[in-house]
Amino acid sequence: MWHAPGRVNLIGEHTDHNDGLVLPFALAQGVTAAVARRTDGVLELRSLQAAGEGVRIAAADLAPGAVGGWAAYPAGTAWALGFTGGASIMIDADLPRGSGLSSSAALECAVALALNDLGGLGLDRPALAEAARRAEHEFAGVPCGIMDQSAALLCSAGHALLLDCRSGLSAQVPLDLTGLDLLVVDTGVRHALAGGEYAARRAECARAAAALGVAALRDVTDLGAALGALTDPVLRRRVQHVVTENHRVEATAGLLRAGAAAELGALLTASHLSLRDQFEVSWPEADLVVDAALRAGARGARMVGGGFGGSVIALTAADRTARVRERIAAALPRAAFLTAVPSPAARRL
Ligand code: ADP
Ligand code: MG
Repeated sequence: MWHAPGRVNLIGEHTDHNDGLVLPFALAQGVTAAVARRTDGVLELRSLQAAGEGVRIAAADLAPGAVGGWAAYPAGTAWALGFTGGASIMIDADLPRGSGLSSSAALECAVALALNDLGGLGLDRPALAEAARRAEHEFAGVPCGIMDQSAALLCSAGHALLLDCRSGLSAQVPLDLTGLDLLVVDTGVRHALAGGEYAARRAECARAAAALGVAALRDVTDLGAALGALTDPVLRRRVQHVVTENHRVEATAGLLRAGAAAELGALLTASHLSLRDQFEVSWPEADLVVDAALRAGARGARMVGGGFGGSVIALTAADRTARVRERIAAALPRAAFLTAVPSPAARRL
């Protein structure tokens, strides 16, 4: 049995596809894959969360488009790894799906680690992360960066992962939440990341970078000059978000290295306002939860994930957590809560 965690991105949203910085950490919750080798070359895929929808396919027949639905993620992982043997794979998870906590990458990475071990593939974790990303992008058809798979495979307990999405280099940053709680609030709104808005934002960022003559918005060093050079107000807002968000990631990493997690609140809330007003990917229930959390005395709060659905995180002093939870539940009765504990990366159980 192999387990891979979900993740919360503490800060750094929509920076990944602009070659920028992100700062995820692994959750205690995740996806577990029970995997056995088979000698008949068949890949059999089942999930306790997808009752009755088992999939059987000859590993030799794996190709993008050959498997749809949830099974595309594990089948795509076998495909991306070039796994030619057979395997029976049973999935179980305690991680909500589609709520921005990266259940898809946890699923891919649990399977990737399992097939790497059972097939004796000998790949290191960055290579497994890249294979899992290809599974999601090329096989399941969801354009995604490397953050989610890197978080699932490279994080460590008590730390966040400062990941440079251009170089692929990462560093462990201590995330000491003593006296604090990081609440994850699932707003119950489900996103469709494969859908139009995500692709539209990526395209806007690419257009802005081209107009500014830089390889990616990561390279904008003078925000004022960049905003002055762009005539389209929409592109100006997108650039404003990406550039300031990268700075917020660096500032957050600096505070964490100083052991000052309690001071992160303003950065988290600024990130939310930027995502709401400049990048325009927030959704009404997220704004409601952030508002309720701040009114109840949370130190900061923001939406997480690509937007249009999923979860919000709220940083609270531990003695205020109960009150913050109550106020959020009153504002949005269907909100579901989990407490984020910075946890280890994927591993064999
Ligand atoms: P997120 O990664 O934020 O949870 P995604 O839309 O990227 O959201 O991925 C969710 C999809 O991943 C689900 O719709 C399903 O296809 C697949 N998935 C995740 N966890 C499981 C699971 N335990 N069993 C089956 N499929 C799963
Ligand atoms: Mg996902």
